[in-house]
Amino acid sequence: MSDVYAEPTTGAGPAVPSALARYTTLRLGGPAGRLETATSTEEIVQKVQDAQRRDDQVLILAGGSNVVVGDAGFPGTVVLVRSRGLRVVAEDADTVTVRVEAGEPWDDLVATTVANGWSGLECLSGIPGSAGATPIQNVGAYGQEVAEIITGVEVYDRRDGRVDRIDAADCGFAYRSSIFKYSDRWVVLTVDFRLHRSPLSGPVRYAELARALGVEVGDRVPLADARATVLRLRAGKGMVLDAADPDTWSVGSFFTNPVLDREAYELLRERAADLGEPPSWPCPGDMVKVSAAWLIDKAGFGKGHPGPEGTAISSKHTLALTNHSGTASTAALVALAREIRDGVHARFGVPLHPEPVLVNCQI
Ligand SMILES: Cc1cc2nc3c(=O)[nH]c(=O)nc-3n(C[C@H](O)[C@H](O)[C@H](O)COP(=O)(O)OP(=O)(O)OC[C@H]3O[C@@H](n4cnc5c(N)ncnc54)[C@H](O)[C@@H]3O)c2cc1C
Repeated sequence: MSDVYAEPTTGAGPAVPSALARYTTLRLGGPAGRLETATSTEEIVQKVQDAQRRDDQVLILAGGSNVVVGDAGFPGTVVLVRSRGLRVVAEDADTVTVRVEAGEPWDDLVATTVANGWSGLECLSGIPGSAGATPIQNVGAYGQEVAEIITGVEVYDRRDGRVDRIDAADCGFAYRSSIFKYSDRWVVLTVDFRLHRSPLSGPVRYAELARALGVEVGDRVPLADARATVLRLRAGKGMVLDAADPDTWSVGSFFTNPVLDREAYELLRERAADLGEPPSWPCPGDMVKVSAAWLIDKAGFGKGHPGPEGTAISSKHTLALTNHSGTASTAALVALAREIRDGVHARFGVPLHPEPVLVNCQI
C-alpha cells in the first residue's frame, strides 16, 4: 500500500526499521521498543490491548507531524495508525455527516469533501497528518478549526478497556487543545464531521486569505478556490510537506500563540513600546492572543536563524523549527527551541509553549 505519511528514505539517520525518525516529519526520534502497524479499527484496539497485556507503554503515532520524539526513542510499543476510509452516516437537505477512520490522511479527506461540494474543511487544506489526530489539538488554520464541525469521536478508552463515543461538547476543545492532548487514556478510532452541502466555503474569516482570494472578510468563495488558495499560501510558507524542501521538515508551528490576561498584555505592550503595537486578537474572558511569530522575530530570531547540527528556523516561516540538515538530533532541535523560548521571555516576559507533543524529551 502506498503511504502518504512521512517515511523518508534519506536524511533520516541510520536505516533501522524501528527508528522513529522514519515516521516523523521532523525526521527525528530514536528507536521504538516495538513497532506495530494497525490497518483497521479492530487492529488498533487489539494492538493496544496486546501491549497493555505485556505491560508495555503505548505511543499512538499516525502522520508523525505533531510529535518531537527524543533521541532515546520510545521504549514501549508504537502503534502506527493506518486505518483508511470514510462513510456517510447521516444526511439531510443541508448537511452530511461523514465518519472517518483515524488513519485516513487528512488532506485526502479535505480534497474529497471539496470535490463532493461539502463545505467546512476547505480552509484546513494542506495540513499534514491523519484525520484521527485532528481532534487531539483541535487542528486549525485560516480561521477554521475542526471543533466547529466535529460532532463526536469514537475512542478506545484504555482506562475502562472499552470502545466509547464522546460527543464534541465533551471533548474539551480549545485553542490547539482538547481532553485528548497529553492524555494517553483515549485512542481515537473514528471521527464524525458534519459538513454543509454547499458549493461555497464558509465566510472567509482570515484577512490574509481574503486578500489572496480578492474578496472581503466574511465573503464566501467556491470551495475549490478556497482550497487552492490556502494550498498556495501554505506552500509559500513551507507549511505543506515537501520531501525536497527542508523548510518543511518540521512540525509546522513549534510554539502556540500565547494567550495573555490584560495585565500581561499591557506589560508586553510596555516592553515592546519601541517596536510598535504587537499583533493581537481578542479572546473570550478578556484575554488577548498575541503572535508567537512576531515575538520570536522581534526577539532577534528571524527566518533562517541557525541552531546546532544544522537545525534552523525555516527560511519561510518564523514559527517552524526545522531539521534543516536532515541529520540533526532531537537534542539539537530542542536546544534551538530553548534558545528561542528563553530569548523571547528575556525580551518580552512572555512564556512560549510548544505546540507539538513531546515524547521522551522536554524543552
Ligand atoms: C508542515 C506542517 C504544517 C502544519 N500545519 C498545521 C496547521 O496549520 N494547523 C494545525 O493545527 N496543525 C498543523 N500541523 C501539525 C500537525 O499536522 C497536526 O497536528 C496533525 O493533526 C497531526 O496529525 P498526525 O497524524 O501527524 O499526528 P501525530 O504526529 O502522529 O500525533 C500527534 C499526537 O496525537 C496523538 N495521536 C495521533 N493519532 C491519534 C489517535 N488516533 N488517537 C489518539 N492519539 C492520537 C499522538 O500520540 C501524538 O500525541 C502542521 C505540521 C506540519 C509538519
